[in-house]
Amino acid sequence: MNSNFPGGRKVAPSLTDRLETGDLLVSVESSFSATYREARGKFLAALPKARAYVLPHLTGPDGEELAVDVAWLGDPDAECVLVTISGTHGPEGYCGSGIQMDWLALIADASLPAGVAFLLVHGLNPHGIAWDRRVTQEGCDLNRNFVDFAAGTPSNPGYEELRSQFVPAALEGPVFEAAQKAIRVFKAAHGERAFQVARKAGQYVDPDGMFFGGFEPAWSARTLDAIAHDYALNTRKFVAVLNVHTGLGPYGYGELQSEHLSAIASHNIAESMFGPSVTSADLGTSSSIPIEGTLQLYWERLIGDGQYLDLALEYGTYDIEAAQRVLLATSGFTRMAAVTEPACSVARCGGAACTFLSA
Ligand SMILES: [Zn+2]
Repeated sequence: MNSNFPGGRKVAPSLTDRLETGDLLVSVESSFSATYREARGKFLAALPKARAYVLPHLTGPDGEELAVDVAWLGDPDAECVLVTISGTHGPEGYCGSGIQMDWLALIADASLPAGVAFLLVHGLNPHGIAWDRRVTQEGCDLNRNFVDFAAGTPSNPGYEELRSQFVPAALEGPVFEAAQKAIRVFKAAHGERAFQVARKAGQYVDPDGMFFGGFEPAWSARTLDAIAHDYALNTRKFVAVLNVHTGLGPYGYGELQSEHLSAIASHNIAESMFGPSVTSADLGTSSSIPIEGTLQLYWERLIGDGQYLDLALEYGTYDIEAAQRVLLATSGFTRMAAVTEPACSVARCGGAACTFLSA
């Protein structure tokens, strides 16, 4: 939709016009991608001055370079910065990358408000996107990796109790059925929420188990820290972070989740901005449970309460049971590969050499 000056010269509609008319939908095909290489190519084509933080020594399935690509839009000295992040959990990056591309197209003709800048972080876990793995090349769930390792890692007693049942020695047959029975007994005794905490809140003991938070900061975590300092995010007046995830909630619905504890200033800011549409794991209104070691802890340490927001935009995909089966199969393959091909060690995979995941 174009509007015309009285003299006949066509101009692009403003962002406000497009918001008012609903003329916001940009082509899915031009925004979304089917491979990491394609997604990165689109991002760099749109933002050729993006800065690449290249993952050393590892490549994607086609030998392609893996990198976190970062672009700044707007005033370099802006006091307020909106940060969008895609790919924290590997293939969830396809949704996040598509949104970033769609957003770029949306704002293409708009000028940013004074004092506001955008920082786009594309493919924070590039190895995970390229290889279709939730975890990083170190086997870490990146959104459990931001604990203060020097202060010690959190314990998860429920995980400790069920650790051998979550990824049993066999994924079918009597061994698998026995594990499922043990899980049902745990749920009956402690409830579904306690089970979800045991399973997903994070664990720091089993590198080959699910939702492993790591023994130290992963490469992607260190890279995020480098990005934050390169762009001086700790010196800004206010930083809002939007991290795109997928997998929880109703299919195709984007749930805006406050990543903060409910009693702190940053959460109150989120509520004042978005009202009841913003959910909270801490308050039990989110499709997510409270989890350990999220990126929010990093922003809290870097910037401080009340001067930043950490929001997750979580899009529902398939039901939890389906997602659990996929994660279980992935973890099972990982562990079997580590046993049968120790030189490969998929949890800390060298990528192209791994026949398990490239098959
Ligand atoms: Zn995620």
